[in-house]
Amino acid sequence: MENRMKELVAQLNRYAREYYTEDNPSVSDARYDKLYRELVDLEQAHPDLIQADSPTHRVGGLVLEGFEKYRHEYPLFSLQDAFSREELDDFDRRVKTEFPSASYLAELKIDGLSISLTYVNGQLQIGATRGDGTVGENITENLKRIQDIPLSLPAGETITVRGEAYLPRTSFEAINAKRREEGQAEFANPRNAAAGTLRQLDTAVVAQRKLATFIYQEAGETDFPTQEAVLEGFAKLGFVVNPRRIVTSSMDEIWDFIQAVQSDRDGLAYDIDGIVIKVNSLAMQEELGFTVKAPRWAIAYKFPAEEKEAKILSVDWTVGRTGVVTPTANLTPVQLAGTTVSRATLHNVDYIADKDIRLEDTVVVYKAGDIIPAVLNVVMDKRKDQVPMEIPQTCPSLS
Ligand code: NAD
Repeated sequence: MENRMKELVAQLNRYAREYYTEDNPSVSDARYDKLYRELVDLEQAHPDLIQADSPTHRVGGLVLEGFEKYRHEYPLFSLQDAFSREELDDFDRRVKTEFPSASYLAELKIDGLSISLTYVNGQLQIGATRGDGTVGENITENLKRIQDIPLSLPAGETITVRGEAYLPRTSFEAINAKRREEGQAEFANPRNAAAGTLRQLDTAVVAQRKLATFIYQEAGETDFPTQEAVLEGFAKLGFVVNPRRIVTSSMDEIWDFIQAVQSDRDGLAYDIDGIVIKVNSLAMQEELGFTVKAPRWAIAYKFPAEEKEAKILSVDWTVGRTGVVTPTANLTPVQLAGTTVSRATLHNVDYIADKDIRLEDTVVVYKAGDIIPAVLNVVMDKRKDQVPMEIPQTCPSLS
């Protein structure tokens, strides 16, 4: 038992480093979540065996060299997650035992990066990443290049707000098209592209990439009575808040909201990975408090994965109108976001080399928005004796 727990801790910590620090995950979020759940269950059954470096006791993310460190005055947290209606009902029961009259605000879970913005006398002074929750990176100059972040507030407020920086799907497509043209490796998904962009040392690049934000929380003490008032108040201050939300005390209504958002998720201008449900009253939130890494007054319902693992059976090389050669992988068929997928793009030769993708490899396939399915990366744990792929040296349309 202890060995398995140690193994899971080591594995999850490695995946977290790849995801948060290197912006280059080697496994799907779904696989990470599954292993994480296994560890949580084992820790609940054997609390005496909990490892000191367990990811269940820390907020993920590290501070990189290259940026100044910034110690948050109020820590940033993770969210407890739910994958089923039952888990939401359990959360509802826990809240209603303490506050039978509680109502919730449900909002979209934006798949980007947490940011913290501190204004002093109305001027944006510090913009930082979440980091490990206590210490983040000072990325003020980069965040100032995001058009929708106000540089000053109307009435000289001193306030720290939290939100999500993300890359709209159209910006993601445009960036990848440009990278393709320039022969650079493409970004795997908008989240990775946003993370890489915010860690650019050249602010001009950030300005070109057209990131955007949704702001949803005030750090520390606040005069707002509810989460809904926070969002309405923030909109008046000039922040962008997400309009898609409901307030209700009924889990049935929240479940309907979840289904509705899930069904038109592909039509959104940005990626989301779930719905966050928060106790609406901030006084109740304060009473409910926090666990070691997440608030007790909120839960994130995660949508079923739009990423799956499949095996590469063969690769087709096609020549586009402009003469560019595009490799496409033929896969063992998998169900992904409601369709059967048996082909996925490998983008270009550099992408294959960069990610070291080989025939017979098990890979993660994903779908985002209207984009055709793509291979995200190799599941290295499942690599056996596969050898590097042979890249055709002659034009495939002539052969
Ligand atoms: P989380 O996804 O569990 O949720 C917390 C974050 O949600 C907050 O920090 C905030 O940035 C964000 N968020 C978006 N919209 C929000 C809203 N409306 N209200 C409040 N918060 C909102 O975050 P986490 O703890 O950073 O990450 C854990 C998740 O990251 C895992 O479940 C997994 O899916 C993924 N992950 C994947 C790998 C991998 O290797 N593939 C590794 C580590 C983590």
